[in-house]
Amino acid sequence: MLLTNARVIDGTGRAPLERASVRVADGRIVEAGDGGFDGAGVEGAVDLGGRTLMPGLIDAHAHLSSDISRSPGFGPPPALHGELPRPRELGYFVLAKTACVLLAAGITTVRDVGSYDDEAIALREAVRLGIVEGPRILSCGRIISATAPGGAIFTTMYREADGADDMRKAVREQLRRGADYVKLMATGARSVLAEDPEPAQMTREELGAIVDEAHRLGVRVAAHVEGLAGARLAVLQGVDTIEHGLSLHREPALLDAMAERGIVLVPTLSTFHDLAERFTDDFAPALVEQAKRQLEEAYATLAAARDAGVTLAMGHDSGPPGDNAIELARMVDGGLTPLEGVRAATFGSATALGLSSELGTVVPGSLADFVVVDGDPLADVRMLCDPERIWMVVQGGKVVADRSPRVGEPAPA
Ligand SMILES: [Zn+2]
Repeated sequence: MLLTNARVIDGTGRAPLERASVRVADGRIVEAGDGGFDGAGVEGAVDLGGRTLMPGLIDAHAHLSSDISRSPGFGPPPALHGELPRPRELGYFVLAKTACVLLAAGITTVRDVGSYDDEAIALREAVRLGIVEGPRILSCGRIISATAPGGAIFTTMYREADGADDMRKAVREQLRRGADYVKLMATGARSVLAEDPEPAQMTREELGAIVDEAHRLGVRVAAHVEGLAGARLAVLQGVDTIEHGLSLHREPALLDAMAERGIVLVPTLSTFHDLAERFTDDFAPALVEQAKRQLEEAYATLAAARDAGVTLAMGHDSGPPGDNAIELARMVDGGLTPLEGVRAATFGSATALGLSSELGTVVPGSLADFVVVDGDPLADVRMLCDPERIWMVVQGGKVVADRSPRVGEPAPA
């Protein structure tokens, strides 16, 4: 596959290459416009007419099954009184729909950070085995939490554990289920009325045991973090990613430590918009008020983290599937340049997943996961949220979505 006359944003944060060519062989990018490479005139080359070619977007914080509850109209409507209850197996069809929609939106990789009943693992396998098309999926299995009120709400999304040995066992269990990495709750959750998200929810010994066990076994650790005590614990015990992390702006030294150690921040701004603005009728009023404060803090932390040089990743943590790039746009609203926003949603997210040598960039050697968009996301990042503008999605060198009948015509001026 040879694509020519493209504006290439390579995901590394470098300025775009103009009128560049990208060549793909055996599922990988072999040449990407650098060094005077120009495929113009080669037989079979596709002229992109100056449109933008960029790495496939990577959502580093998704809940593939439960995000549907934040996607009115995406799944089946709730059963009316008198109707038979909806079979829970319908959920698997909704998951398959989610996978297709994500891919068409240019999301070529997703890190699932918690689903019920190992549903993300089931979907990952369905995609991997070619039963449905969908993004590459990484799953944490079940989220490791101390025994906590959230366990009563999140049921099979959690594995509650207490004490260092039980934490180690919980890590091992997730690997046995087929998890790709481990996720833990360093603090309570803002969506649970009976949890205060401020204090650490695990002891240092417990959190340290999870990190030690996971790292010894060769997998990464993501930490759900809201309050500062949990942030401190997670950073100092050496987790690999901080999810949410909204309190970090209060202690800049922690952001410096994250930058130094390569700990990635996934700010998930959209989830705070959900609780503070979008679904205010669905949550207890005290949680809505708390979310309004947290929304401000999340933006303050985004700016402080950027200034401290922390690697940022895009995590939508919301719905509907396919709207994920709104998180990128919000990061730009929060002070990132569009180029930094794109970098976060590609290379930054790949770094969060521990896959930056394979994914998240359009450079020779990377897996050929990329999107062609009709327009310039650096002039208007919100165009990435418009499915009509996502012209072509390529995953592992294979075209998996294509609505570009006019490829070859020059882009509108
Ligand atoms: Zn989440």
